[in-house]
Amino acid sequence: MARYIFVTGGVVSSLGKGLSSASLAYLLKSQGYKVRLRKMDPYLNVDPGTMSPFQHGEVFVTDDGAETDLDLGHYERFTNISSKKTDNITTGRIYSDIIKKERRGGYLGKTVQVIPHITDRIKEFIKKDISDEDFVICEIGGTVGDIESLPFVEAIRQFSNEHGKSKTLFIHLTFVPFLKSSDEIKTKPTQHSVKELRSIGIQPNIIICRSQQSIPIDQRKKISLFCNVPIENVIETVDVRTIYEAPISFFNQKLDKQVLKFFKLKSKKRPNLLPWKKITKITLNTKKIINIGIIGKYVNLKDAYKSLDEALTHGGISNKVKVNLIRIESDKLKPNQIAKKLKNISGLLIPGGFGKRGTEGKITAIKYARERKIPFLGICFGMQMAIIEFARNKLKIKKAGSTELDRNCYPVVGLINEWNKDGKIIRGTDKDLGGTMRLGLYDAILRNNSAIKKIYKSASIKERHRHRYEVNNNLKNQFEKKGLIFSGMSPDNKLPEIIELKNHPWFIGVQFHPEFKSRPLSPHPLFSSFIKAAKSFNGK
Ligand code: GLN
Repeated sequence: MARYIFVTGGVVSSLGKGLSSASLAYLLKSQGYKVRLRKMDPYLNVDPGTMSPFQHGEVFVTDDGAETDLDLGHYERFTNISSKKTDNITTGRIYSDIIKKERRGGYLGKTVQVIPHITDRIKEFIKKDISDEDFVICEIGGTVGDIESLPFVEAIRQFSNEHGKSKTLFIHLTFVPFLKSSDEIKTKPTQHSVKELRSIGIQPNIIICRSQQSIPIDQRKKISLFCNVPIENVIETVDVRTIYEAPISFFNQKLDKQVLKFFKLKSKKRPNLLPWKKITKITLNTKKIINIGIIGKYVNLKDAYKSLDEALTHGGISNKVKVNLIRIESDKLKPNQIAKKLKNISGLLIPGGFGKRGTEGKITAIKYARERKIPFLGICFGMQMAIIEFARNKLKIKKAGSTELDRNCYPVVGLINEWNKDGKIIRGTDKDLGGTMRLGLYDAILRNNSAIKKIYKSASIKERHRHRYEVNNNLKNQFEKKGLIFSGMSPDNKLPEIIELKNHPWFIGVQFHPEFKSRPLSPHPLFSSFIKAAKSFNGK
């Protein structure tokens, strides 16, 4: 029977609950246990799919096509366990299911209430789609005490009663500030946060204290005493130099040991920390810097391209260079500034995106990279922009564009009204914005003798998608005659998945998002190859 670990946060948000959960999952998995990670988000959006990156950071896409919270990206990167649709839920989704059921008469006339109906639905989510997992780690978004997170906290309290107290563990992550003026570490916020948690019926079993410096034994004793937790279960997490150090740091603090002890389990083998030590060392010691220009709408926003930033860092690690991102906001980019802005870059990346704003600047920048033979990687929207640039400037189709941006353009990129997957129509133009995209894992067949096939070392690949529009395949021959090859296609040969330029050292566009599948311990080949090309461009 699965054991459940619930991770809540206190005092302030952004303490790294996701990273802590992911590190713990790695440590348990590496000791021979089967682990699953889940996230419960207290906001009212049904999923983060339609939320602006300004609000919520990146939307992470799973293999099975769920648009999820970016914490699932951390989970996957640290554990290499693929998340599923069933691993992320929001208050919005829960209410929407319940209201639908109520409208159908599913509650047989009963009054529908937060307790028991909402809490029952949360408990259902926690247990759903679990088979032989040893541990299910569920992170609760937000901070204890928020109005929105109350039903979740109530649900996990009930869950622990029903599932068995010895089979459910509560971890509370708090902040332990250091006050410069008095030269003191303060435990009071932690005490208050635990008090808040206890007032709604949850006694944490382990407290993880995030702090800027090591917490002296006296303060740990205080936390142990006031929060009613054994001293060995007061675990500190001091700011790490790189996130790759987190699993090492939690191991040193014996987090996994205390978790196993709680469940009366033994470690099946010693966790393998070598790969983390290796990449920490590379990350901290590499001196060589490669400048990659990235042009997008949200480039100055910390989590908006989280997986992409990570994937580029992974590409840097595999080439033993530090990737320095030159972030260029597309909205502000005037075509006549391109040469100046891109002067010192060794590679250009145009990431995924939506909408017209800033597209002309991107297109001009792609032309610059194409003509000056600067390594270029276009992801999703970035590939669509590259195709438009080539059509305008090489095929001389002046009105070439995407119907997403201009209904009257010559549609080099356009909407295909219906897609069939497993015989079902999965999107159409007349549906809601949410849920009308080509989402999740799709196959692509790679052409012989193409650059992309050499990079992947495989004839077919599976990558994650998140888009509505497609490159118009009818123009394939025209493009190929001019040297832009459609080197990856959908298995039915209808949808261009990858484009590449013949007479260019490294110019590739992909309709999918390879960044979602890059892992620090196994960097994605496309990013490793892109950074390698940038490194040799730099060397010229
Ligand atoms: N806006 C484009 C589309 O919907 C690209 C989306 C993306 O880059 N993720 O097809």
